[in-house]
Amino acid sequence: MSSKTPADDATDARHAAREPLVCPSCATTYPLDERFCPRCGMPLVYAGGLGVEEPVTATHERARKIKKQYAEGDLVRVAGARNLAEAEFIQGLLLEEGVPSILRRSRGFDVPDFLAAGPRDIMVPASGAATAGEVLLQSDLAPPAMASPPMVRVALGLLAAFAVVALVAWLISLSAH
Ligand SMILES: [Zn+2]
Repeated sequence: MSSKTPADDATDARHAAREPLVCPSCATTYPLDERFCPRCGMPLVYAGGLGVEEPVTATHERARKIKKQYAEGDLVRVAGARNLAEAEFIQGLLLEEGVPSILRRSRGFDVPDFLAAGPRDIMVPASGAATAGEVLLQSDLAPPAMASPPMVRVALGLLAAFAVVALVAWLISLSAH
């Protein structure tokens, strides 16, 4: 015997319609006007199989793109941006691959919160960090700390040129025999 009555089911359905978003970390449900879990800071995703209507706002569209397998684990820093606009651009790139992200003000820069200026750290869940790294690498937005300084690039270029010269010399010496 089920203890559920038709009235209970109707209540569940109404609840689901009111709070179709779920935190991938703590599984708390939220209404559509929330973007992030206040407890975990995780971007909310649509709970599956609730018959949610097509997304009607940009926020819902973003939530729909997020892949759940990229929304697990602790937040890790994958990139830095010089300002809010650049940070949001990077967030857009990551979202295209289904990786959710949040922005944090980089430490050491005390700019009032309402200002768009000031560098931001882009944080993604640990399970999305590898994909985020590939996305950033492809768009030449890898973390500055990982990019090689110009002098190293010049040295590598010279080394490559030398290797080509050595190879050609070796090929010539082979054909001379
Ligand atoms: Zn949560």
